Amino acid sequence: MTRQIVVVGGGPAGMGAAGGIKAVDPGCEVTVYTGFDDVAYSPCGIPYVHGREIDTFEKLFLSSKQAYVDAGIDIHYNADVTGVDAGRKVVQVVGEGDVAWDRLVLATGFNYADPGVPGGDLGGLYYVKNIREAIEWDKVLDTVKAAVVLESSPLGVEMVTALANRGIETHLVDPSPWAMSEIADPDIMAPVEDSWRELGVIMHYNTRLKAFRGDGWVRSVETSEGEIKADLVVVCTHKEPNNALGVAAGVKTGSTGGFIVDERMATSAPDVYAAGDCAEIPNGLTGVPLQGLTGSHAYAQGKTAGINAGGGSRAYSTVYVPWGTAAGKWISGGASLGETTASALGIPYLVGTAQGISRARYYPGVKPVTVKLLAEPGSLRLLGAQMVGGEGIKERADFLAVAIKFGLTLHDLAAMENVYSPAIGALNEPIVVAAQNGLDGSRKS
Ligand SMILES: Cc1cc2nc3c(=O)[nH]c(=O)nc-3n(C[C@H](O)[C@H](O)[C@H](O)COP(=O)(O)OP(=O)(O)OC[C@H]3O[C@@H](n4cnc5c(N)ncnc54)[C@H](O)[C@@H]3O)c2cc1C
Repeated sequence: MTRQIVVVGGGPAGMGAAGGIKAVDPGCEVTVYTGFDDVAYSPCGIPYVHGREIDTFEKLFLSSKQAYVDAGIDIHYNADVTGVDAGRKVVQVVGEGDVAWDRLVLATGFNYADPGVPGGDLGGLYYVKNIREAIEWDKVLDTVKAAVVLESSPLGVEMVTALANRGIETHLVDPSPWAMSEIADPDIMAPVEDSWRELGVIMHYNTRLKAFRGDGWVRSVETSEGEIKADLVVVCTHKEPNNALGVAAGVKTGSTGGFIVDERMATSAPDVYAAGDCAEIPNGLTGVPLQGLTGSHAYAQGKTAGINAGGGSRAYSTVYVPWGTAAGKWISGGASLGETTASALGIPYLVGTAQGISRARYYPGVKPVTVKLLAEPGSLRLLGAQMVGGEGIKERADFLAVAIKFGLTLHDLAAMENVYSPAIGALNEPIVVAAQNGLDGSRKS
């Protein structure tokens, strides 16, 4: 009998799930519901179009709607799912009523945390997400002289850079003491902050938002440190799981509010799977559940959920979260724990750092690369990495996440082989030097 599988969500998790289902069971009837006009575009590229590094939003569309029709995936656009009944196995859809399913994948993603201050209903508050809205906001940006970016989340960091590159007077308002403090250490973000200063960015750390002020449209923000005039506010607050549908249906959530899933991405409700930013996954070292990771995590989780919902078998394991972002003129990145997170969790660590270069020192375009490794005292097992530099950060972050996952030690990394070729890599790999420095005279905490 043909199985009917409903996917709620057309982001990377939902589309990964739809593709996964079809890969294992092409005969399956797959219906995707999304609240947006489009699927298969890259929201990740939106800040770069706003910053004029990419010339058109058209380039962010990755696939045509017809391609999904041809693949047998039935996508309902602008279709809001208002309820899930896990007992009767139906979803309620605006304009369609009850729609039956044999299996359901919840891929409802994230919502930006509500700033929770007066003035939240003013115009000029930009929540970056939907590409059609981004196209309209881009026209507004042409008229903006001064803007506030609220909080230096990874998106906030990208939007600060984008607005500054566009010549807009850019203020960052953040209750934290440094940029991206939930992920990155202050020494790693210091060069980024310096380069923002060079771009004219005005940073307001340890500063709480108290209200948006305006007359229908935002004109300023009131903060704990005074008023800042702004024609636009980009709200880049923490990503919270969009869990309302599943919670109302009795699907269990964990400490982050994300749906609890097993390694098959199955939830507590029979035949209901969840993936992406609405789900939580434990960190492989600490077991602490994490939610709101990245688009690549969402896609891989969606694929796993889809394969299992479609009758196949795939496991998604714990995460070590390689991350990286371009900010100002630098790229920062890392994997698993930094010093700030390790300290907050009470995990002892020792540190090895090195300042290296990305190519031979005489080769054009050579850039500095700083690597900091955290290791467990005694075993010297790698616990985390933090980096900042001009290039090659992404590849190192990906590699170091695998190194952490498989329990490599500072001894292993100090003896690691590396590519040396003047145009693409220096004789001394900074990871090797940082590991050696950690062995020689490590700083302990
Ligand atoms: C501006 C921007 C920049 C980003 N940059 C990066 C980056 O550089 N690197 C990276 O890895 N990731 C990036 N991301 C990805 C992002 O941070 C998330 O991790 C990712 O979008 C999560 O995917 P998801 O499929 O779980 O949810 P989402 O992408 O949030 O998709 C949720 C989907 O669910 C639908 N939905 C929700 N509720 C309902 C309902 N009731 N009825 C119908 N449909 C519903 C929505 O319409 C949407 O289609 C970026 C995202 C944005 C918005």
